[in-house]
Amino acid sequence: MFEAKCPCGEVTLRLLNAPVGEVYSHRDECQRAHGAAYVLRAIFNRNDVLVIGGNVKSWTNGARRTLICSCCGSHMFSETDGSPFRDVNAGNFPEGRFNPTAHIHCKYAVAKIADALPHFADIPSEFGGSGDVMDW
Ligand SMILES: [Zn+2]
Repeated sequence: MFEAKCPCGEVTLRLLNAPVGEVYSHRDECQRAHGAAYVLRAIFNRNDVLVIGGNVKSWTNGARRTLICSCCGSHMFSETDGSPFRDVNAGNFPEGRFNPTAHIHCKYAVAKIADALPHFADIPSEFGGSGDVMDW
């Protein structure tokens, strides 16, 4: 168990168990929402993510709902109707807690990151994606 706070300190999440996946997401929607080339994501079982302090607001994009801090606007997590997972902004983790194992949605990449991690075009096949990898 550990906690994650937004930059202004208003909202605190309690994360009850280890994430099922930690990735850099290059998705086009992530780029739009964050104004960044890629974002830090940790996927948790839905019931392992609790808001224990502060006020959040939400916005939706189709079946996907995103919760943000009502004060600083930091993305806290997203969830999709019917999904067993919540997609947490790992940029709010304590230092050293984010341990990514892959890059995902690399077909949208605007900044290619050369490292030893796999670079999936969309998402790994075990999560319903093609499993295809990029050549970088
Ligand atoms: Zn905040």
